[in-house]
Amino acid sequence: MTEPTSSTHGQCHCGAVKFEGKGPIKGVDACHCATCRQLNGGPYMGVGFHDGLTVTHGAALKWYDSSDWARRGFCGECGTSLFYNLKGTDFYSASSSCLDMPSGMALSHEYFIDEKPDFYDLAGEQPRLTGAEAFALFQKDDDQKDNKND
Ligand SMILES: [Zn+2]
Ligand SMILES: [Zn+2]
Repeated sequence: MTEPTSSTHGQCHCGAVKFEGKGPIKGVDACHCATCRQLNGGPYMGVGFHDGLTVTHGAALKWYDSSDWARRGFCGECGTSLFYNLKGTDFYSASSSCLDMPSGMALSHEYFIDEKPDFYDLAGEQPRLTGAEAFALFQKDDDQKDNKND
């Protein structure tokens, strides 16, 4: 068990789904992949919680299987896109737009830069990874976790 740390509160637009992310926010990641953009109306800007999150009001929470490896959580009342979860893991990314974000946050990474349409760009000097580079990075993280858990 890790010692109790700060948590970050969040909710959907109508308030039917409320949650707390475990641990402090370190940064925001943007994903430009076609699935994220279609589900979110633009690039997905998420905050990763590696120790999971607690849903405190969840009766309206629905899950959608968006791929073999990930599912998305959204509010069945107002339709707000809330979560990305790697299936079978405690890794959740919560939409930065639904969190009580501290000020002064910066983008940490951009993912799937090779799927970004031409009509927008995000400012900043953060690393910009292609889909292949992102999968390679996550695979490395998975291997480290597997070693720890098994
Ligand atoms: Zn809602
Ligand atoms: Zn994506």
